[in-house]
Amino acid sequence: MEYKPKVITGKVTGTGWPIDGHVLWFSQWDYDNRENWHLYGWEDSEDEAVMQTVFQTETEAGLCLFDTLEKFAENWKAKKWEPQGSFCLPLDKVEVLEVKQEESTNNTREQLRAHGFDLTPRKQTDRGGIICLPLDKNLNGDVQAKHPDWEPVECPTCGRKCWKHPEADRLAKEQDAKMLCTECAIKAGLLSPFRKEGPNRAQRRRAKRERRK
Ligand SMILES: [Zn+2]
Repeated sequence: MEYKPKVITGKVTGTGWPIDGHVLWFSQWDYDNRENWHLYGWEDSEDEAVMQTVFQTETEAGLCLFDTLEKFAENWKAKKWEPQGSFCLPLDKVEVLEVKQEESTNNTREQLRAHGFDLTPRKQTDRGGIICLPLDKNLNGDVQAKHPDWEPVECPTCGRKCWKHPEADRLAKEQDAKMLCTECAIKAGLLSPFRKEGPNRAQRRRAKRERRK
């Protein structure tokens, strides 16, 4: 049986970020011992707050691909942004409003451990033991000009070209984190892909159409 995380809607409090007071979708996973809420999706009305928060937290973590909120917003709205990791909040920062899906377990954690991923939660800005390398195909082609300190590397799993920022080496060393391209990380279930299964625009539109019938 396929592993399914618990999925809820909940109100965010006390983070000091623009998402405070907003109701978002979160998931909870067994790979980090259910110690965090992972951002899972959000309604259009919450998009601005989520975008500002993600820009702020990625910038603080040294992982943001864009220098200004303006540039970031442009890419975000064009749906070109890809998550640099799973966005997590401690359990006490989310007030659960509704359970949308109960967790259904399998032996995911054991399988990951067998592959050398021993995942333990650290702090909010951490990426659950995985450093995501942005895939070249998802970038504009001007990476070297914009980020002269980035290094082209191959994803250790799929071999596709991705980019490594200097911070990645530090994190890998200090936190014994592993590097994967974003897609491999998502495939391995190490990241909850934003919007992928949440109430995204297309799904909501479809639901609306269904209701009208
Ligand atoms: Zn890969």
